[in-house]
Amino acid sequence: MNHFRFILPTEVIFGVDSIEQIGEIGNRYGKKALIVMGGNSARKSGLLDRVVGILKDKGIESAIFDKVTPNPTTEVIRGGVALAKEEKVDFIIGLGGGSAMDASKAIAFMSVSKGDILDYFPGEKYFEEGPQGALPLITVTTTSGTGSEANQVAVVTDTEGNRKCGLRTKDGYPTVAIIDPKLTVSVPPRITAATGLDVLYHALEAYVSKKASPYTDLLAIEAMGLVSKSLAKAVKDGADIEARADMSLANTFAGMAIDHGGTVAIHATSHPVSAYYDSPHGEALSAVAPTYLKHYYRTDIPKFAKIAELLGCQEAGLTQEQKAEKASEYLIKLLEEVDLRITLSDLGVTEDMIDTLTKNSFETMKGAIGNTKGTLEYDEMYQLYKESL
Ligand code: NAD
Repeated sequence: MNHFRFILPTEVIFGVDSIEQIGEIGNRYGKKALIVMGGNSARKSGLLDRVVGILKDKGIESAIFDKVTPNPTTEVIRGGVALAKEEKVDFIIGLGGGSAMDASKAIAFMSVSKGDILDYFPGEKYFEEGPQGALPLITVTTTSGTGSEANQVAVVTDTEGNRKCGLRTKDGYPTVAIIDPKLTVSVPPRITAATGLDVLYHALEAYVSKKASPYTDLLAIEAMGLVSKSLAKAVKDGADIEARADMSLANTFAGMAIDHGGTVAIHATSHPVSAYYDSPHGEALSAVAPTYLKHYYRTDIPKFAKIAELLGCQEAGLTQEQKAEKASEYLIKLLEEVDLRITLSDLGVTEDMIDTLTKNSFETMKGAIGNTKGTLEYDEMYQLYKESL
């Protein structure tokens, strides 16, 4: 068994209507908050007004930074930091999906750290040293996808360098995560499917990663079981609060699992796709995942057999190896059920780009490549992309 260390410093507040607690929680950190969010969904659903109102009732003033884009960029982070400093805020609230929460993490640590966000990218000036602390951060997740609300990773895209990197730092951990399943009810079916599959891949990848531990296995198995039970229900009926609650829980468990177990080849190959094509994260992952399972199940037969079982394989009389081989087939069944059986070609990828994507992955996704059991050399990754077209 691997040696391991396990720490989860974020306070987790879970439950329907737990958003009502944001005022009393905010009060611990000061009287002025910067709310970091995307342009639309929190306004349209009334969530922004609700949060501003709850804060106001507790005497907390809000400044709003609503410039976060999907796959947030270094430019977005710089804009948020400038506003946090100008408004002299005491704490940050990340309100939205992974994009808003990741941006809020980077804004929280860059508001008190030297240099520029690019200096903290892998291989850059302050990468090894890391940030110098962070403003207190409350994350409020409105998707069930990334697990960002309670982990240390902030994924930021450097558009000029075509790099989409997961910045990992102890200063990235939110102080408090509020997980209110009701806030995910308004997520449309396709985004529910894509984000829910992101949860599945987090759990699955942490489970088969070289860095897996008994802690991450517990979280990952529970998360995969919950996705298998409830993702299709949440896609079909967004108002099914039980299914939404299962997905919210799975989301947080899976995010905690990757925080320590890391991701493997699925994330390693999909980040370059999002960096070049701005594809939704869960869709880019879904385009490559079945090919990865098909070629890598032999790297850990008991675990891939367990994945097949968790995805619904109950076929009698199979050996462990035959069951492990079925993992890809059962994943495809789930993808079809939630209407997300897509290919890289659907996302705009062409064969002449595979060399670029492969090289980009080897430059930017060394961690996930290193966590992958078996071998993942240039030719093997090239093949994964090619078969996923
Ligand atoms: P997202 O945050 O980009 O949101 C996707 C879309 O859903 C947006 O248009 C948003 O406005 C909309 N939306 C969000 N909540 C909604 C709601 N309640 N109702 C209606 N619409 C809503 O998507 P995401 O998948 O949550 O996050 C993706 C980002 O997170 C990517 O940049 C990805 O790389 C990153 N990520 C981070 C981690 C991590 O550990 N930090 C892990 C995986 C992915």
